[in-house]
Amino acid sequence: MAQTPAQGLTRIGDDVWAFLRPRGGWREANTGLVVAPGSASLVVDTMWDVAWARRVAQVQQPLVSRAPITEAVNTHSDGDHWWGNDTLPATARITTSAAARQGMREDLPPAALTVLATAGQLLGRVPGPIGRTGAYMARIPGDARFPRRLPRMPDHTFDTTERLVVGGRPVDLERLGPAHTAGDVIVHVPDAGVVFSGDLLFVGSTPVLWHGPLENWTDALDRLLALDADVYVPGHGPMCGSAEIREVRDYWMWLDAAARPHHARGTRPLDAARALVRSAEFVRFRDWHAPERIVLSLSTLYHVWDGNPPGPPTVVRRARAFADAEALLREGTV
Ligand SMILES: [Zn+2]
Repeated sequence: MAQTPAQGLTRIGDDVWAFLRPRGGWREANTGLVVAPGSASLVVDTMWDVAWARRVAQVQQPLVSRAPITEAVNTHSDGDHWWGNDTLPATARITTSAAARQGMREDLPPAALTVLATAGQLLGRVPGPIGRTGAYMARIPGDARFPRRLPRMPDHTFDTTERLVVGGRPVDLERLGPAHTAGDVIVHVPDAGVVFSGDLLFVGSTPVLWHGPLENWTDALDRLLALDADVYVPGHGPMCGSAEIREVRDYWMWLDAAARPHHARGTRPLDAARALVRSAEFVRFRDWHAPERIVLSLSTLYHVWDGNPPGPPTVVRRARAFADAEALLREGTV
């Protein structure tokens, strides 16, 4: 039985493991491993930092030496969940939703993000919104080192649902996006009672609505609850149960209801965020990591409430939202 905890891996179900980075910051995404002992394995997500991605592959090694990795899943298009794909064996098939793969094609490649983060460090000293955008952009990767070239893309896609079989173990994929991103996928391992939610769950860490619509995200949370799993592994934060899913749902229901009047009055997102984080209802969410992300989600909500179709943020929308997030941090509002 391969149940000896490999260093860094947490056993979360029968032959199901996770590499957890519990604070759940920008650089701290979780990854998973499903093993069919003596037969085959499946990896869920890879980290964007080159050294961390290698480290995860190394600690997985003892568990997969007799159960080679034949399948991998990327839960969505954000780089922190797939830029480590080059650490996967070349023979492993990589699956994601068609919408997520489209997002991977359209998003900035890792080399561009490296350039922007470096430029951001310099720009961060410039006063005004450009400086604030730069400073926030530099916060996201921090000291992470991204791959120089675009990593291997998924080679297999599906539209809404897909069943993979890993050495006889069923693993069910469902696309529940567009919500956090265009093609959010969850990974359900029914025989172990485990769900990897990707970034449809942030635990103890403030979620970000990049794409929308928000209703899809709350529907996705209902779907996660309906699966009634023993353990959920969020994209960021510690593993959890249904109580934490309901908290994320409460956050979105609160933000949706509380922000609408600000939008209706024409209050800009930064001022709305300032008022919202000072409200009594926000107290229960205040200690989540990166509370300033509230204004990133407001940017998306406002975009949709203005009558635009949900979609990934343009460079301009993202830059404005980053400047607002940095403002909240600098003035000590959050
Ligand atoms: Zn993420």
